Amino acid sequence: AKADGKNKVRVYDKKLYEEIELRVDGERQLARAIQEDHFIVYYQPRVEAQTGRMVGMEALVRWAHPERGLIAPDHFIPLAESTGMILPLGRLVMEKVFCQIAAWQFQKLAVVPVSVNVSARQFDEGNVSEFIASCLNKYAVDPRFIEIELTESAMMGNFEQVRGEISSISALGIQIHVDDFGTGYSSLSLLYKFNMDVLKVDRAFTSQICNGKGGEIFFSSIVSMAKVLKMRVVAEGVETIEQLRVLQQLGCDEIQGYLVSKPIPSSDVPRLLDQSILL
Ligand code: C2E
Ligand code: CA
Ligand code: CA
Ligand code: CA
Repeated sequence: AKADGKNKVRVYDKKLYEEIELRVDGERQLARAIQEDHFIVYYQPRVEAQTGRMVGMEALVRWAHPERGLIAPDHFIPLAESTGMILPLGRLVMEKVFCQIAAWQFQKLAVVPVSVNVSARQFDEGNVSEFIASCLNKYAVDPRFIEIELTESAMMGNFEQVRGEISSISALGIQIHVDDFGTGYSSLSLLYKFNMDVLKVDRAFTSQICNGKGGEIFFSSIVSMAKVLKMRVVAEGVETIEQLRVLQQLGCDEIQGYLVSKPIPSSDVPRLLDQSILL
């Protein structure tokens, strides 16, 4: 019976064991995975709220682990950020996206802009804009097909440094999205000073719509504020048609979420690009 119990423990705790292993040995594993290129990029479409027309996609990285299969970013991005591995990983993802857009253009597909998540740490380190400029050059991609997503907290870092980077990126003709808006502490004046293009309202607020607790009022004030700042508003995490209807009424410009599509591998993207109207 004792041996039996032990066996069970080993089976049931395999996932936990792997979690712990990743925590203890994660930095080395990440370094190796970057070196051996075990990362792939998924794409999630973003559509115009009124028409359902696809207007962009978000690039979302996954770790294709040889033994464990696809690992979601929440399981390794925090580690990558705390260890600094986010710097080479961020460049790897950026380069993959550029390479992919160039391939789609070569296939004569009607490409839409792809937004890439960039961590605070990458902005602090200082040469994101330079790296993007070199990729634009290397892959001959039009800057309007690349967009950058950064969180409010990334904007609050080293102010002058971040502002310099953002203005250099804007000067390249690249749009900047404020990600997870509403979860941080950015002020109206900060958004104004940074001259951002798009507000992506966090899923937490989208989920407050249609629940009878007045979440619509909050959302509608974000929309008004964005209009003043001449920014577009994207609702993240839209899962139901009811949410979509309310967002249309509130004047939200674009939506992203499972209602339209989950993130998909690059091989499934051409079909969506051909389709164009996704809702
Ligand atoms: P995020 O930037 O807020 O990305 C949106 C996340 O919400 C994605 O999770 C997406 O799959 C998920 N999502 C989209 N629509 C829905 C929906 O309708 N319902 C629900 N429940 N979820 C939805 P994912 O791909 O697991 O990524 C998680 C986070 O990892 C991202 O959050 C982002 O912060 C980070 N991340 C992903 N790729 C990168 C990257 O290349 N670089 C950096 N620095 N961070 C990344
Ligand atoms: Ca994002
Ligand atoms: Ca987000
Ligand atoms: Ca997030």
